[in-house]
Amino acid sequence: MRTQNTPWLSPVGTCPFCTRDLVKLEQFVDGRTSHGPWATMCMPCHKTHGVGIGQGKGQHYKLNEEDATFYKS
Ligand SMILES: [Zn+2]
Repeated sequence: MRTQNTPWLSPVGTCPFCTRDLVKLEQFVDGRTSHGPWATMCMPCHKTHGVGIGQGKGQHYKLNEEDATFYKS
């Protein structure tokens, strides 16, 4: 049986740094940035502006095509 991961229930929108559509990119990181505030950003921008993955840092979400919902990965 597949583990039920936590879904992302808010609108996804665009990356605040490069304005790319996160749905089209099919994954994003909800994480803290080196500037302080949290952001939902694309993978390349997370590399530049993020502080990593883990508790208090960030969480990776991936699009599940079957139900068009992002889940924690
Ligand atoms: Zn970006």
